[in-house]
Amino acid sequence: MEIKKIRFIEPGNRPYKKSLKNYFVYDRYIRTPSLGLITLATIAKDSVPDTYMYSESISSVDWEDVFTADIVFIGVFTFNANRGYEIAEYIHKNSDAKIVMGGLHASLNYEEACAYADYILLGEGDETIPEIIKYFREDKEPDFAGVAYVKNGECIKTGEPLIPHSIETIPDRTLCHNYEKMVGHSTIWPQVHASRGCPHNCAYCALVQHYGRKVRTRSPENVVEDIKRTIAFHKKKKRLAEILWITDDNFFADRKWAISVLNAIIESNIDYKFTIQVRYEVGFDDEMLDLLKKAGFDELSMGIEFLEDEAFQQYEKKSTYSEILRSVKNIQSHGMRVRGLFIVGADNHTEGVGKRLADFVIEHNISGVLIQSMYFIPGTPVYDTHKDKLINGDWSRCIGKVVHYPEKISPYNLQKEIIYASSHIYSFKRLISALFKKRGLERILFIGEYLWQKSVRKELKKELPWLKEISDKSGLYN
Ligand code: SF4
Repeated sequence: MEIKKIRFIEPGNRPYKKSLKNYFVYDRYIRTPSLGLITLATIAKDSVPDTYMYSESISSVDWEDVFTADIVFIGVFTFNANRGYEIAEYIHKNSDAKIVMGGLHASLNYEEACAYADYILLGEGDETIPEIIKYFREDKEPDFAGVAYVKNGECIKTGEPLIPHSIETIPDRTLCHNYEKMVGHSTIWPQVHASRGCPHNCAYCALVQHYGRKVRTRSPENVVEDIKRTIAFHKKKKRLAEILWITDDNFFADRKWAISVLNAIIESNIDYKFTIQVRYEVGFDDEMLDLLKKAGFDELSMGIEFLEDEAFQQYEKKSTYSEILRSVKNIQSHGMRVRGLFIVGADNHTEGVGKRLADFVIEHNISGVLIQSMYFIPGTPVYDTHKDKLINGDWSRCIGKVVHYPEKISPYNLQKEIIYASSHIYSFKRLISALFKKRGLERILFIGEYLWQKSVRKELKKELPWLKEISDKSGLYN
């Protein structure tokens, strides 16, 4: 089979819609295009020069262009899986293109995804994408390790995927349609991913199931080169918030390497601000904190998740409330802000969880929050223990909405707790205070998040009548 044209598609949670709000507000329509998928498109382009990508986060898809491709790769996370399946069916109906699906959700949940695509690529695609192109060219069934497909009505898996030898590819962001035009939007972040894998094993974490517990890193020079190119790409348009997000799941797992990357950033004299996700242990590492500050990190996003030791233990998150608090204080004493990433809906959570969260955030000067309602991705330990508690199989609701029947609080009340926490942390009073007391980027970020959280609450409120109905009907919370 001749392979002359390849298209990559990142489905949106909903298809992209043009709106002025996109400049300021993340919601279901707009996000930064997937760096992982752009990296894979960059790799595929070496084999097939006519390779291009559409991300429904930032543009519509030119379907006529897609229908004439020989292969269409679709990458899905959980929140956009339904839309990914819809797209696959649409392409099947209108084109002879081979459809290959991959990404975290399809890979961990390949039996479900098999119903929609010709092949599922499991795990990371850096080395399997060139391989599958080669197999198609030779008219061979791609039966190397790490593929799933339907044969005789059954979804078969050819074996566990191999881990790529190198992860040094610098993504060519120009391959993603409309990206260059959209870089002025404050909702689209310059991003670099510098390592993969995490040695921990939190029960709800799909990333560690996908990338594994062995940490693999890019060379500091390669990371710095990527950072420089990303900044140059995003400087094509004026941005309000000039911050680059290092998106690693656990950048600090290999301490020696993390220090070498931070030193390389400092030596390169890159004049930019950065943010990154951290576990609480980083807050006890004074040398690391000094380096982070020197390299341009003014804010760290901590995966705090819970505020109760019971929840940490149940979900295998090795931390305690008092350690989290000590860590937050120490990071702040090094002149950096702490943003908090939280999960609500743990088995121990009761009414009042939203108030506890908001009180904690306000009292300890947490600069911003991301509140995620507990959800269970197939392939994670918590899915095995809690899958019966899912409200339904609608993956598109996994965008912060309550998707399960929690143990001690109804779905309806839990969604109200999230709304409560958001409205107190991002209250009008705190907005006015931020306008007077915060400066520069900190002020811009708070205003942006105030608007974003307002739109999040609006979406959450719309669902309350339905959640009330199913909570009452369940008979679990009388
Ligand atoms: S520390 Fe973070 S990346 Fe590692 S397993 Fe836990 S949640 Fe996942």
